[in-house]
Order: sequence, then structure tokens, then C-alpha cells
Amino acid sequence: MNINSVVAKKKFGQNFLKDETVLRKIIQAMPKNDNKIVEIGPGLGDLTKFLVDVKSVEAFEVDTDLCKLLHSIFKEEIDTKRLHINCGDVLQAWKSELVDEPYDLVANLPYYIATNIILKALADPMCKNILVMVQLEVAEKFCATHGEKVFGSLSVITQSIGEAHIVVKVPPTAFEPPPKIDSAVFLIQKNSDRSDENFEQMLKVAFKQPRKTLMKNLLAVYDKTLLQEAYEELNLTLTIRPHQVSTSDYHQLYKITRSLDGRRESGDTSK
Ligand code: SAM
Repeated sequence: MNINSVVAKKKFGQNFLKDETVLRKIIQAMPKNDNKIVEIGPGLGDLTKFLVDVKSVEAFEVDTDLCKLLHSIFKEEIDTKRLHINCGDVLQAWKSELVDEPYDLVANLPYYIATNIILKALADPMCKNILVMVQLEVAEKFCATHGEKVFGSLSVITQSIGEAHIVVKVPPTAFEPPPKIDSAVFLIQKNSDRSDENFEQMLKVAFKQPRKTLMKNLLAVYDKTLLQEAYEELNLTLTIRPHQVSTSDYHQLYKITRSLDGRRESGDTSK
């Protein structure tokens, strides 16, 4: 098999990035540090070529045909340990530690599992920065600020852990074969690890029906008087919608409901 005879496999989300301007923009946006690079889905190696020029790369590729091809394209880089290719499903590999040193994730992700991969990287303490290409709509959700219609639990989780912004929007013509949707590269610079699971549970409830009021969503799980007290303390209007509440208010809301809950359980009704 040579590079010209490769037929993209839909089931693996294969859309190969061919636009050199976009490839260079990804390299320019990489945070400057000594971290290793993890690339998920090197594909035909178009991004990998640029990455191995700047850093050593640990790559994960599920397609065995592409793994063979990559081993022949990057023989020298593999021999000199600039590149190590793990052939297999990255989500299986992630069941234990993916890499045992600090790393930045830089990848043009397979879109069918992109959100899952980003959430795993956000939760992985070894992952320090995430620079990835995904579907534009998904990038906008991770990067949204409160008030925007697409602000949701992914935005709150991301903002709780670091800062995110879109680096460049990418049209379908940049890929071979072209996908049906627009894409975007975005960067998350982490400054802490993933928030606690109970907080994320509360977010799930809060955004269950995004167009309803936040109060209506929360009432499915939380006690009405407890919520009224929390709203009063935070100065939130009863009609506020989930996307209108800031990340710091979500954290406050979580803290208050937990401490009020705790006081109720212990029978302490004093303020
Ligand atoms: N990086 C290449 C590029 O920019 O042209 C290819 C990107 S393509 C959108 C996604 C790549 O992820 C494909 O090579 C695909 O085979 C690989 N992939 C899909 N599912 C995967 C998985 N579960 N684990 C590892 N790689 C996967």
C-alpha cells in the first residue's frame, strides 16, 4: 500500500487535512513548553510531519493499514525516537494512563469521538494543553462564554479548568475527502484538572432542557426552598435560563446548595 492508494474509511472519521496554511497555523498556535506531544489519529501523517520537526510525538492510530504506512513514511523518526506510534483504539489505551509524562494534545480529531476525547484529556492530569480540530459547532460549545446561546455544560467544565479560544475556522475544502460540515481548531490552556464529578452532575441537571428556566431544570432534583435561598444569595432572577449563568455562579450555586443541604441533614436551621 502506498499513500496514493489510500481510500478514506468513513467509520474511522477519516478526513485528511491537506491545507498547508491551516497545518502551519496549528503549529504556530502550539503553547511553548517542553511537554511531549500526543497526536490522536495521525492518518497519513500530514500534521505529524510538522509536529516531529518541533517535538517528540506519541501517536495513536486505530487503522492498521495506516499504521503500516506511517511506519514506512516515518522510519527515520521512529528509529531516532522522535515518534512512537501506538496502533489501536486510543479510548482503549486511555483505560489506563495514556502517557506517563506531561503532554499537550495536538490533533485533527476523528469527529465521531471528538467530545469524548476532549473530556478525557480535560480530566487527565498529565494533559496540560489541548489544541484540536473538531466540528465548528463542537468547538463553539467548548469556547462559549455565558450569555451565548451555545453556552452549556461543556463550556462550564472547560472554563472551570482553563481558558479556551478558537484559533481558526476551517472550510470543508481544506480536507480530502471534504466533510459535510465546517470545522475549527481551538485551544484549551489548562490551569487545573477536571472539576469534581458531583459538580458535573449538577450541570447535567441544570442544562437538561436548555431553553427552560434554570429553576425549572434544577427543581427536578433540588428542593424548592433550598434553591430559593441560593438564588437570593447569588442575586439570580427566577426566570434566568441555564446559558445566562456564569461559570463562577455555577460554582457558587453548587457550594451553596451543598452547604444548605448539609445543614439541613444535620438539623442546623440557623443562618
Ligand atoms: N491527522 C490526520 C490529518 O490531519 O489529516 C487524520 C485526521 S482524521 C480526521 C482522524 C484520524 O483518527 C484518522 O486517521 C482515523 O483513522 C483516526 N482514528 C479514528 N478513530 C480512532 C481511535 N478510536 N483511536 C485512534 N485513532 C482513531
